[in-house]
Amino acid sequence: MNTIIYVDNNATTMVAPEVFGAMQPFFSERYGNASSIHRFGGTVGHDLDEARARVAALLGARPEEIVFTSCGTESDNTAVIGVLRANPDKRHIITTKVEHPAIRSLCQVLAKEHYEVTEVPVNRQGELDVGLLADAIRPDTALITVMWANNETGVIFPVETIADIARANGVVFHTDAVQAVGKLPINLAESPIDLLSLSGHKLHAPKGIGALYVRRGTKLAPLLVGGHQEHGRRGGTENTASIVGLGKAAELAAAHLDDENARVRRLRDRLEKRIIQNTPDCFVNGHPEHRLPNTSNISFEYVEGEAILLMLDELGICASSGSACTSGSLEPSHVMRAMGVPFTAAHGSIRFSLSIYNTDEEIDFIAEHVPRIIKRLREISPFVRGGAKPGTVTYFPQDKARDAH
Ligand code: PLP
Repeated sequence: MNTIIYVDNNATTMVAPEVFGAMQPFFSERYGNASSIHRFGGTVGHDLDEARARVAALLGARPEEIVFTSCGTESDNTAVIGVLRANPDKRHIITTKVEHPAIRSLCQVLAKEHYEVTEVPVNRQGELDVGLLADAIRPDTALITVMWANNETGVIFPVETIADIARANGVVFHTDAVQAVGKLPINLAESPIDLLSLSGHKLHAPKGIGALYVRRGTKLAPLLVGGHQEHGRRGGTENTASIVGLGKAAELAAAHLDDENARVRRLRDRLEKRIIQNTPDCFVNGHPEHRLPNTSNISFEYVEGEAILLMLDELGICASSGSACTSGSLEPSHVMRAMGVPFTAAHGSIRFSLSIYNTDEEIDFIAEHVPRIIKRLREISPFVRGGAKPGTVTYFPQDKARDAH
């Protein structure tokens, strides 16, 4: 297989050549420690300042509100644990049923440690009922954490509205914006969001670098306790090369956000339309409009997602079933379950997530092959052979029980 067609950008992205170029000197001649007194290290400190300013500019934040971390997961953990530690008298967290494991698994651990967690459900289109969320607020609610955009479906949540509600109730609001940053315009100067997580490898910077926006005045205890780096908010010698890379990626994203995302949306829509037109019994998961411009999650009835992925892989096409973290397990994702996607369709869901590096030719190639793959797989599908007919909805046993009530 010579050519790769990469449409798995919600899992990770290619490092932009400009980002790679900006990072290279920090592996060789510019290896100084930014905390050193000597000029050799001090100049690296200036490079970090510049990177911080670039990340802040992408978010409409102040440079001093940006804390560099090692990844989106660390940013999420810092936000949640940091707020709880800073508000020890409050023990209630509100989140959603469709968060990434970086939040969801953490909340499940905290629920075993005497915290109470309310998970707000989503509807069939993956949208959140903001009224239900507001009703869940209690006097002891420490934090509301809601993702900006879902990694599996791309569905966008009204985080600014939710942040308004949180503020009106004196509750800190955090958003996991790992999938949103670089794909949606964000202006934190004009929003009541207190904390925001991002991850470099989702926006063409390397893996192993992230950032947490901490609005000035937000009470937050550090997760990594150590040196005075990041103004005492995150101990550990800075990953200078990756921070500079993230700064460059943020600069590129800010410069090209509107035009590149319009192009990506056009490609995504074309791919989706052609697949839907030419494949019976398939549908898009998630709200058709309130979605990231790069993400298409399509359910193909009566076929296994893993089988589709393998056949795509033979053609050099890299896509995903569910999120990168949940694929590999035969359980359909918690997101599909929360949306009430029927069993057979949830099992056959594929996520195509595009980037600015995809081309029209690539999209046409995928759109041409997907209907053929589905047709071939259906001919040998145990669902179809087992008697399920197109139009028959097959439920998870527990969903069926729920629907009966
Ligand atoms: N949050 C969301 C929504 C994600 O999609 C991901 C990664 O897939 C993460 C958090 C975790 O980010 P990282 O891989 O940088 O730890």
